[in-house]
Amino acid sequence: MRQTRRGFLRRTLGTCWIGGAVLDQAMFRAVRARAQAAANVRLPALFDIERVAEGVYLAVARAQTLINSNAVIIENERDLMIVDTHSKPSAVASLLRQIRDHVSPKPLKYIVASHFHWDHSHGLGTYRRIAPNADLVATETTRRLIGEQTLPRLKASFDQLGASIEDYKQRQGKARTEQERAQWREMITETEDYLREMKTFQLELPNMTLERDLILHDKAHDLHLAFRGRGHTAGDLVVHIPQKKTIATGDLLHGFFPFIGDGFPREWPRTLVAVSGMEFDAVAGGHGAPQRDKRRLYQMGNYIEEVTEAVVRGRAAGRTQAELEASITPSALRTIEDGGFGAASVEAVIKYRRLAPPAPAAVQVLAEAVRTNVTQIYTALDRSA
Ligand SMILES: [Zn+2]
Repeated sequence: MRQTRRGFLRRTLGTCWIGGAVLDQAMFRAVRARAQAAANVRLPALFDIERVAEGVYLAVARAQTLINSNAVIIENERDLMIVDTHSKPSAVASLLRQIRDHVSPKPLKYIVASHFHWDHSHGLGTYRRIAPNADLVATETTRRLIGEQTLPRLKASFDQLGASIEDYKQRQGKARTEQERAQWREMITETEDYLREMKTFQLELPNMTLERDLILHDKAHDLHLAFRGRGHTAGDLVVHIPQKKTIATGDLLHGFFPFIGDGFPREWPRTLVAVSGMEFDAVAGGHGAPQRDKRRLYQMGNYIEEVTEAVVRGRAAGRTQAELEASITPSALRTIEDGGFGAASVEAVIKYRRLAPPAPAAVQVLAEAVRTNVTQIYTALDRSA
């Protein structure tokens, strides 16, 4: 599969491929060497690059213990825009190697953070060092949140991950099969590598921001960066490429169940409806595979709306959080079955997340995801007031 794609790209890009690639090989090697020296980590391929439309690719993040976001690679006339920057510098270096090997030799011009979360924004500083003249772009709100939240959350995660490693080691000791033991070992190694690498993390803020719209008129296509309301966070940005009928949506719309820990469940469905007004049929989201139509946009909006309504009704009737977590189950929700929303989300989670062994059954993953969403919405309702 990958051989075929590489062959296709080689044929399409022809000789300019080779020449351009050589130009930034030296820079890339230097970054890779720094990432490896700093963290002593290997640089495995962390992504599967899928073509979404002409000149638009989704680097789908493979399962890792510490999750990485996908990246959207947009090939402009003379340069590249990359949407989202993953959880760690070495993931950026790894992606860049894959881009140079399989997508394009063009220079990096715009690096976009769809929102402030760590798994999408920790690589901003790496791009700043690799491409000093590139613009780092986000909404003004996201820039503020990166500034306020990134370092305190990273610091807190160091303690939590230290505890996780101890927990993984205990469970590894009790594992019943060699396969499970190997999985725990991999989780321990990945967590230790991440901690070591992030000890030298340097915060980098976007240098270009927008409140609502920014349109870049590139010769290849327009790039419409837009904020259409709060949802997954207070500052979610989408990148619409009208001529390619494609949109990059970050975590406002992706293949997993929604994460609502910093979200606005009363507003999120409305924001999705506003985004649906843009003309597109391909969606490159922050996690999971690309989507080929708008169906999931409506399914996800309807799901968030249904769970939110159930939580609001339950709270008004005086029921506790625990009671609602017990009663708002997958079978109590109409939207789980709608177009296979629940099943598709479970499948994506199992494929693209590293779940602790032994592998859970699909029904368990579904029940856990819905319970988590009920908890998050219960907590978030006051935030959305
Ligand atoms: Zn994410």
